[in-house]
This record gives sequence, structure tokens and C-alpha cells, in this order.
Amino acid sequence: MSHGPEKLFLSDFFGKGITMNTDSCIFCKIIQKKIPSQVVYEDDVSFAFQDLHPQAPVHILIVPKKHIQDIHAVTLQDRELIGHLFFVAKTIASQKNLDAQGYRMVINNGEGAGQSVFHVHLHLLSGRHFGWPPG
Ligand code: AMP
Repeated sequence: MSHGPEKLFLSDFFGKGITMNTDSCIFCKIIQKKIPSQVVYEDDVSFAFQDLHPQAPVHILIVPKKHIQDIHAVTLQDRELIGHLFFVAKTIASQKNLDAQGYRMVINNGEGAGQSVFHVHLHLLSGRHFGWPPG
């Protein structure tokens, strides 16, 4: 019987059973490293990588490992997981000293709003001026 410290995983809090859609979802393939990406951050429930077509000098995507098609499909059980994505983005922003210049977090929901990959993701953008209202 072990009396050592137990290792805690975020998935102990956010729910087990990460479901992936590896056949058709490009981000599930990236998370599983079947498609290469420039990894920025990883834990047991989330993954962050450089956007392939950056829209700003800093453009990082933060995704849950669980396959959720869009923010509209999020359930009550997913809310801590979605909150965690924002915490990861903020932590990356701190590490990259983005606070002084400012940064933007964006989630596009649905084709009409510009979503092109149907695995929910948070864009972290910085390094240039951002207009408002957004385009
Ligand atoms: P959205 O249009 O909000 O769905 O964002 C999808 C983002 O995924 C876009 O900014 C794309 O440039 C990015 N993207 C698509 N394929 C890849 C890939 N293989 N690696 C990294 N980023 C990607």
C-alpha cells in the first residue's frame, strides 16, 4: 500500500472520459500528435498550439482535449473545462508578458461567425492593435 503523495490530475476535477473524434476532427488529430503542431502548452485536459495562419504576431489556439464541436454544444458538466481554457490562455499571456500591450480572446461559434474548425477553441491574439467592433 502506497503512502506517498497522490498525483492529482485536472481530469479528476473536470470529469474522466475524454472523447475524441479522431477520424474527422483535425484538432483531435493535433491533440493526439497524429498531425504536427507547434505546441505551446499541454495538460491532461487541454492543449495549446500556434495557429497555422496567424492573424496577429501572437496567435495561439487553446482547445479542450474532449471533442466538443462548438461553444453552443457545451453542457453544464463542461463549464469548468471551458473556464480552464481561459485560465490557460491567461497563463500563456502572463508567460509571454502580453498584459501591458493587451490581448484578445475570441471564440467563433458557427460558420456565420467565422468558425471553420468544429472542435471548440479559444483564440489568443496579441502583438498588434485590434479594432472594435470586430470585423
Ligand atoms: P476558426 O475559424 O475560429 O474555427 O479557427 C480555426 C483556426 O484553426 C484558424 O485560425 C486556422 O488558421 C487554424 N488552423 C486550421 N488548421 C490548423 C492546423 N493544422 N494547425 C494549426 N492551426 C490550424
